[in-house]
Amino acid sequence: MFLYFDCEAHMEEDFIVSNNSTIDIGKIWEAALQKIANEVTAISFDVWIKTIVPSEIKGNTLVLATPSLSSKKVLNNNYKTIITSCLNQVHSAITSVEFVIEDASIKEEEEKEEAPSEDELVRSTFNPKYTFDNFVVGSSNQFVAAAAKAVSQNPGEKYNPLFIYGGVGLGKTHLLHAIGNSINETKPELNVVYVTCERFTNDLIESIRDSKKTSTSSFRAKYRKADVLIIDDIQFIANKQSVQEEFFNTFNELNENHKQIVISSDRPPKEINPLEERIRSRLEWGLLADIGIPDIETKIAILQKKSQIEHYNVSKDVIEYIAGAQSTNIRELEGMLARAVFYSGLLGESIVSIETAREALKDIAMRNDAELDASVILDSVCKFYNIKKEELLARKRTKEVALARQVAMYLITDLLSIPLAAVGDIFGKDHATVIYAKSKVQEDMHKNKKFATEVNDIRAMIKGK
Ligand code: ADP
Ligand code: MG
Repeated sequence: MFLYFDCEAHMEEDFIVSNNSTIDIGKIWEAALQKIANEVTAISFDVWIKTIVPSEIKGNTLVLATPSLSSKKVLNNNYKTIITSCLNQVHSAITSVEFVIEDASIKEEEEKEEAPSEDELVRSTFNPKYTFDNFVVGSSNQFVAAAAKAVSQNPGEKYNPLFIYGGVGLGKTHLLHAIGNSINETKPELNVVYVTCERFTNDLIESIRDSKKTSTSSFRAKYRKADVLIIDDIQFIANKQSVQEEFFNTFNELNENHKQIVISSDRPPKEINPLEERIRSRLEWGLLADIGIPDIETKIAILQKKSQIEHYNVSKDVIEYIAGAQSTNIRELEGMLARAVFYSGLLGESIVSIETAREALKDIAMRNDAELDASVILDSVCKFYNIKKEELLARKRTKEVALARQVAMYLITDLLSIPLAAVGDIFGKDHATVIYAKSKVQEDMHKNKKFATEVNDIRAMIKGK
């Protein structure tokens, strides 16, 4: 996890380096980060600088914690002067820095794994249950399922890249695995590589951080030697410059060689922000296929399929009852089914009865009714401030939009129980920005009655929906 503040966002509004005696090292480091960003390449910044956590001040020395021995070495050899000078510009009392390793347990004896050799192909394994046969096709996913099948029959020939997008739990990962399973079975000579965007990011960071040159080339070998590259949840690429750069190069190389690329995302390319235009346009080159919200018949058919696969003994009543829940997230519905089955098993029933299912799902069904969606909050905020949703989610920052965005972040964290990082993702920001927005809005509400009333009006608007 990076401890990284979106400095621009914080600085322009209300940050002034204080010259009084109490030194706030967090703020000083934030300000220095902005200067350092101008001095080093984006990739170095992402890999080395962002991972630093300011630890303490000893006299005129700022102690900076680094995550590993190798990063400590690199920072000492290459970046010490730049960092010291930027810090000194921010606060003249700081004249030197010292790097320490954050986690005492890894200290000096960090293990060094052998990187796989350059020729070695890395094959992905796929969940054997996520096949086309097990994928129920209804009106919401007919098109995307057909596109996925076409790609697995003729990889690299037709829809390239195939970009699948849609909400959580609607079957994107299932389809990606189905493509992998199908190609592995019918064209075993092809090397199919599946990776989540998160894993791709971590692999990249590790390969650069590792001092051995072979590590970077084995990273490239892994991804650029794929015949079919499948990347799940690409939306996490937003805001990560070095990952975008590497993805761009990988994409181009594979594309030139007519290799198939399949990508999933929780939103269409135009809503992934911030994202370099050259990447956005590539994501849109092939076929964009959205996976819609299933209707009740499809939900029933999926739950029936699931019961068959898992050998659940469930009556049609129970399946219909669960499919009738408000949730459209199939993963959640499957969870409800499993819970009912488990509960029924405890009671020694031979087949899950509708009474038992009701009892087992009492709390969950209620929670679904009360569940709010982030999009409802965004809509209300936009309506209140009279701005467009695209403006709210874009990188652009006029004063009004910046305020609306902070209010939206605050309300989402306040009203929904979703992780801060996920809130950040909605806006293409990191979790630190969300924390900042939240405390800023709280503070301003405290200081300014009119603003507090405004925010509460928006809250009432949301609740009234
Ligand atoms: P996503 O990646 O879109 O968040 P997943 O692919 O992980 O969603 O799907 C969540 C669960 O729902 C998985 O267990 C998957 O098998 C199941 N599922 C989703 N859609 C279907 C479908 N059309 N037919 C069968 N199972 C489905
Ligand atoms: Mg998924």
